Amino acid sequence: MIRVGLGFDSHEFEEGKPLLLGGVKIDYPKGLKGHSDGDVLLHAITDALLGAVGEEDIGQLFPDTDEKWKGAGSEVFLKEALRRAKERGFRLINIDCVLITDEPKIAPYKQAIRKRLSELLGLAEENISLKGKRREGFCREEGIACLCVVLLSYEG
Ligand SMILES: [Zn+2]
Repeated sequence: MIRVGLGFDSHEFEEGKPLLLGGVKIDYPKGLKGHSDGDVLLHAITDALLGAVGEEDIGQLFPDTDEKWKGAGSEVFLKEALRRAKERGFRLINIDCVLITDEPKIAPYKQAIRKRLSELLGLAEENISLKGKRREGFCREEGIACLCVVLLSYEG
């Protein structure tokens, strides 16, 4: 049995906050607004994993009204989603992600992000795809959006 999961997330820019994408610090003057560190990529992957195994979404599992998650590193969310998937007998096969943003450019960071995701997910880099796409006029340039799809297989 295989299961697919889709995750989407978006965050507005915030001046003077560090920008983290996939757990990697990006050299950019603005970060992403949010109760946690605003790592839009890790949030989308987390939601895709949770969706694939039929769990509640990230907002319900880690509510931003809970002080416990204020300023939380998003790696915590991802690890918890992965733990839940494993607990249900699933193994991650591959992930494919799209970051939608004009700035910063994703290409210079692509390798570093894939490497970090590989460590976090316990997945070979060849099974991690990351693409940066410009908005091409779609929506206003006020943040970053991310889409991610994951595939898991049931190992029992
Ligand atoms: Zn988010």
